[in-house]
Amino acid sequence: MNISVKSSSVLEEAHAILDRLGVDKSAYTNGTMVSFSPVTGEKIGKLKTVDAKGAAAAIEQAHAAFQAWRLTPAPKRGELVRLLGEELRAAKADLGRLVSIEAGKIPSEGLGEVQEMIDICDYAVGLSRQLYGLTIATERPGHRMMETWHPLGVVGIISAFNFPVAVWSWNAALALICGNSVVWKPSEKTPLTALASQAILERALKRFGDAPAGLSQVITGGREIGEALVDHKNVALVSATGSTRMGREVGPRLAKRFARSILELGGNNGGIVCPSADLDMALRAIAFGAMGTAGQRCTTLRRLFVHDSLYEELVPRLKKAYASVSVGNPLDSAALVGPLVDKAAYDSMQKALGEAREHGGSIHGGERVDLGHPDAYYVKPALVEMPKHEGPVLEETFAPILYVMKYSDFDAAITDHNAVGAGLSSSIFTLDIREAERFLAADGSDCGIANVNIGTSGAEIGGAFGGEKETGGGRESGSDAWRAYMRRATNTINYSKALPLAQGVSFDIA
Ligand code: NAD
Repeated sequence: MNISVKSSSVLEEAHAILDRLGVDKSAYTNGTMVSFSPVTGEKIGKLKTVDAKGAAAAIEQAHAAFQAWRLTPAPKRGELVRLLGEELRAAKADLGRLVSIEAGKIPSEGLGEVQEMIDICDYAVGLSRQLYGLTIATERPGHRMMETWHPLGVVGIISAFNFPVAVWSWNAALALICGNSVVWKPSEKTPLTALASQAILERALKRFGDAPAGLSQVITGGREIGEALVDHKNVALVSATGSTRMGREVGPRLAKRFARSILELGGNNGGIVCPSADLDMALRAIAFGAMGTAGQRCTTLRRLFVHDSLYEELVPRLKKAYASVSVGNPLDSAALVGPLVDKAAYDSMQKALGEAREHGGSIHGGERVDLGHPDAYYVKPALVEMPKHEGPVLEETFAPILYVMKYSDFDAAITDHNAVGAGLSSSIFTLDIREAERFLAADGSDCGIANVNIGTSGAEIGGAFGGEKETGGGRESGSDAWRAYMRRATNTINYSKALPLAQGVSFDIA
C-alpha cells in the first residue's frame, strides 16, 4: 500500500533534518535556487547561490588552504577523514532520509548511500598510511631511483543528482588524505543534501582543530558555476560526474589548460543470460539492476541479451516481476521503486518508449502512476522486448527501461553488447567457465566493470569505479584510484663520486 505524504510534511521534515545537522536556515530559505522533492514535487528549499566571483574566491581560499594542508603528514590528514566517518555514522539516519526526500531514493538506498560514504572514509584512513611509490633499478652505479607522490592542488568536484552525496565523499575522502583541498559543485537538483554533508564535515573539522580555513567547500549554483570551476587555473583536477553531454563540454575545456580530469559519465549497461544461467539468481539481479533506484543509476541495467533457449522461460517471469513491483512514495518503506527526478526525466522516458515502438518494440509497463501529486513523476518500470539491438537501445535514457533482445550466437551477443558509446558496467549470467572467462577477457566486455553472476549495479568501494569510451575513462574510489589525486615525481639520487650519464652518453668538459 502506498502512503501519501502531505506536501507540508516533506518540507518540514527536510528542514528539521537540516536544523539537526546544524545547517543555517538562511542558507536554504532566502535564496533564488529552488530545490524540489521528487517525492511530492513540492519546493523544499530556496538556496543562496554563488556567482562566478564567489566561486573564484572559494577556489583561491582553497588554494591557500592547500599550501598548508600538503605539509600536514598524510596519517594526520587521515585523522580528519576518520572523524568525518564518525560524524557520518552519527548522522546516517538523518542524511539517508534527506537523500530519500531530495533524490527520491527508497530508505534502504538512501541509507546505503551514506554507508558508502562511511566505507570510503574507512578506506581512506587506512590509505593515508600507504601512499607509496616504487624504488626502481638504475643502470648507473652508486645511484638510487625512486618515485614520490605529492599532493596535487585544489580538487574540483562536480556531482550528479542521482548520487547526491556519495560521489562527493568518494572524491573528497581521497583528495583530503592525498593532501589536497576540495571545492564541490553539487547538482542543482540536490543542493540540500550537499549543505547537510558540508555541515557534517564542519563538525569533523571542528573536532580536528587545526585544519586550514577553506580546506573543503561547497559552492551551490548551476552549470555556469561548474564552468567557473573547470576554467580556474588554480583547480588542478576536476572530477566530474554526470551525463556524457556534460563530459563532452568539460573534457575539452580542461584539456585546453592541461588540467587533470576524472570523467565519470553516462552508462548504457548490458547483461547476457547464457543457457546454463541460474535463472532464479539472474532474475533477482536483473530486477534490482534494472528497476532499483527507479532506473536512475549510472550502472542501471538497460540492455539484456537472453539466449533463445531460455527466452520463453525467463521473459514471462521478468514480466511478472515488472507487473508486481511496488511503485510508490519512497518515504513509505514498502515501495521498491520511487519517483523519477522530474518531468524532463519522465518526458525522455516516454520519448524513448515511443521510439522503441517505432522500431517494433513490445512494451510492458512505462505508464505514469498517479499518487495524487501532480508535480511528482512516478512510473511503472518498462520492459521492452526488442526485435533488434537498435534505435533507442543504443543510448542511455535515465529512467527504468530494460530492453530485452534474443540471441543465439555468443560471439554476436558480445559484439552487440559492446556496440554502444558508453562502457561503464556489464554482467554475464552463466555457469559455463568458458563463457564467463571469455566475457572477462580482452575480446569480451569492453566496460570498466565486468561481473559474473551478479548485476551491473551496486559496486563496492574497494574496487576502482569507472568506465571506458563515452563513460569518460575516469576511475574513483578503491584500488589505485588515489594516484589520480596526486602528482608523481621521479627522483634519481647520486651517492657515488662519479657522474655517469645514462645511455652511455659522454660529455666531458675540459
Ligand atoms: P548532468 O550532466 O545534467 O549534471 C551533472 C553535473 O554537471 C551537475 O552538477 C551540473 O550542474 C554539471 N554540469 C552540467 N553541464 C556542465 C558544464 N558544461 N560545465 C560544468 N558543469 C556542468 O547529469 P545528471 O542528470 O545530474 O545525472 C545523470 C547522469 O549522470 C547520467 O548520465 C548518469 O549515467 C551519470 N552518472 C554517472 C556516474 C558515473 O560514475 N559514471 C555516476 C552518477 C551519474
